[in-house]
Amino acid sequence: MQSDPPLKKNPLLALPFEPALASLGEDYYDVVAAAEFPVHHLRFRNDALLPLLNLDPAAVSDADFIEAFGHFEGQGPFFALRYHGYQFGEYNPFLGDGRGFLYGQVRGRDGELYDLGTKGSGTTPYSRGGDGRLTLKGGVREVLAAEALQALGVRTSRTLSLIETGERLWRGDEPSPTRSSVMVRLSRSHIRFGTFERLHYLGRKDLIRQLLDHVIACYYRPLVDEADRDALFYEQLVERVAELAAQWMAAGFTHAVLNTDNMSITGESFDYGPYAFIDLYDPDFTAAYFDPYGRYSYGNQPLICKVNLEALQIPLETLIPGERMQASLGRFQAFYERAYSRRMLAKLGFEALEASLAKDVLASTLAYLQAARAPYHAFFLQLSRNFCPDWSTEAESILPEWRPAAEAEFLQWRTLYQQALQTLPPAELDAVAERLREHNPSTVLLRPQIENVWAAISENDDWEPFLTLVERLQDPFDPPNTHERQR
Ligand code: AMP
Ligand code: MG
Repeated sequence: MQSDPPLKKNPLLALPFEPALASLGEDYYDVVAAAEFPVHHLRFRNDALLPLLNLDPAAVSDADFIEAFGHFEGQGPFFALRYHGYQFGEYNPFLGDGRGFLYGQVRGRDGELYDLGTKGSGTTPYSRGGDGRLTLKGGVREVLAAEALQALGVRTSRTLSLIETGERLWRGDEPSPTRSSVMVRLSRSHIRFGTFERLHYLGRKDLIRQLLDHVIACYYRPLVDEADRDALFYEQLVERVAELAAQWMAAGFTHAVLNTDNMSITGESFDYGPYAFIDLYDPDFTAAYFDPYGRYSYGNQPLICKVNLEALQIPLETLIPGERMQASLGRFQAFYERAYSRRMLAKLGFEALEASLAKDVLASTLAYLQAARAPYHAFFLQLSRNFCPDWSTEAESILPEWRPAAEAEFLQWRTLYQQALQTLPPAELDAVAERLREHNPSTVLLRPQIENVWAAISENDDWEPFLTLVERLQDPFDPPNTHERQR
């Protein structure tokens, strides 16, 4: 008599993994082994994600996390994904997962398929001389970015766990030796624009067809029965990416490395390296020291997203008529502006304004911020904290302390802002106060915050400031009704 396999006690190992990508055959990945690490300290577990995986946080121990996401021996198969990409405009056919792999794919409680992917889990055929590792600081930074973006309404990957692994790493951009870690990321998909680019480079039209069918079936399900689903997929991707760019811009976020291998086919934001939230409002702000021409500057992100979407037309050309894709791409700007202005108007306290007034208020806000080189987040936070219904009749009381920084632009903005308030019925002004509070965070992940948290870790192994910051970033807004009392 055959006996049942022993039940896995670790709920993370017992997740119902689905071989979605594996079902496509062996053209998309290399099976790889994980590194073995000398130590395992669980530094972060994202309990907020466990319900999505049908797991009760209380039923998953720290030891379960370490066993599943730190000791990889006996698990797998693990897939280092194959992809190419345009890096800073240059085609690179030597990419692929160089320090991570697809750990597994699992269906969430919401019915969607999710990837668990590692970062820092060892070398692969794509490591190109790299050590296959993730610095602890890099891991800490990625945890913080994803949690901050999520709370600001940006479609983003998340971090499921971060384990310190006890190795000494050498890096040019961190004081070295520096500490090591391995991270597990939860994302909608690790299929990138560059996954298609590689297939085109290899002349594999058959695989482009197969992969696109897979992408539509898994991530664009409502399109499956549409006759022109390929073209509709591209159109929806354009829309999703335009919305993502708008989400970054409104959040004041600079991704910093928008190569096509870092662009997800689902339109989700992921892979946070040298990113930064802007401090002063400056479209030219560039986060990566290795981006001297500002290709991926804060203000260039919408354009670069469009450029990347255009590059994706090349591998898709055999499946979708070029004119159709160009027509879809032609709508990028409109998709972007719609999403960006909706978010920015909300940051100004409005849900809907007459179109030309909305445009003028937004343009004058940005003109002021830029002329004043104003601190972006502080401006909106102060607007939110100081807002008073009387502003609709008393222009002088609107943020007087912000006036000297760029007086002409300030006065223009103030006039238009007041005009916008005056279009609202008096009862609506309370809703403005609430909207301001809900869209303007009081905890913002500026670089000094990250450095402070890191200093506590690196100097005293004190993780309290990091964990506190994560918690605050997960709910970064002032509590309801606090502004009332401040006024
Ligand atoms: P990224 O800039 O993080 O998107 O990485 C670009 C490429 O470099 C990807 O193929 C990575 O897997 C690879 N890579 C980055 N850092 C390392 C490393 N330390 N060891 C091996 N490969 C790496
Ligand atoms: Mg990457």
